[in-house]
Amino acid sequence: MRTPFIAGNWKMNKTISEGEQFIDSLGDLPAEDEVESAICAPFIHLPSLLEKAQHLNLGIGAENAHYEDSGAFTGEVSAAMLGDLGVDYVIIGHSERREHFNETDGTVNKKTHAVLDKNMIPIVCVGESDAEREAGDHASVVESQIEKAFDGIPAESAGKVVVAYEPIWAIGTGKSATSEDANEMCGVIRKKVASLYGNETAAAVRIQYGGSVKPANIGEYMGQEHIDGALVGGASLEPEDFMALLEGA
Ligand code: PGA
Repeated sequence: MRTPFIAGNWKMNKTISEGEQFIDSLGDLPAEDEVESAICAPFIHLPSLLEKAQHLNLGIGAENAHYEDSGAFTGEVSAAMLGDLGVDYVIIGHSERREHFNETDGTVNKKTHAVLDKNMIPIVCVGESDAEREAGDHASVVESQIEKAFDGIPAESAGKVVVAYEPIWAIGTGKSATSEDANEMCGVIRKKVASLYGNETAAAVRIQYGGSVKPANIGEYMGQEHIDGALVGGASLEPEDFMALLEGA
């Protein structure tokens, strides 16, 4: 009942023309009811990607957004601006932003509110560090991240949120989580959402796994009960890989 959802996260890669070439090189994308797909890209790409993807079954997302609509926040781009542009998704609280740009559970919550308010879909990233996993704290860390991210989000919006479970030690390292471990954590997330909003909402929320996903391992993850898709960094940069991921989903 949950449509599989594959989202690319280009991070800080590609020039505008390289981004356009990527879209031009995509083959036939799967139908909307088979697989939902998106590319999340740096802000400067968004206008051209939105135009290129207009008639494709491909959503376009940003990698961050500020929660205030406007004001004295030099260098920031607001959720209001992205919504006005027609952006479909916004990645929120990626571990690289938590680590290098002081994102906290508090800002993640404000951004989740702002993105939903502007009728976009937030892709909220959660995940434990290596040390937290070794200490056996991975489930409690992620439960707490979920609880704080959803704080004050009304029940009617909660089901629209996409959660990306991305263990920090698996991102960009080639060291992916086993599909069983990833499924277990996605199950923990679904249970937490159920405790906050009930089973129906929990069954509707899409949960992606992220961390060294590639065409060769996507099938394993998609075979798991609680994994509804993937947030993919490195393997979303080449059109052939991206197409292979969509096929694998
Ligand atoms: P990766 O990145 O696929 O390159 O590991 C995933 C992510 O950071 O979202």
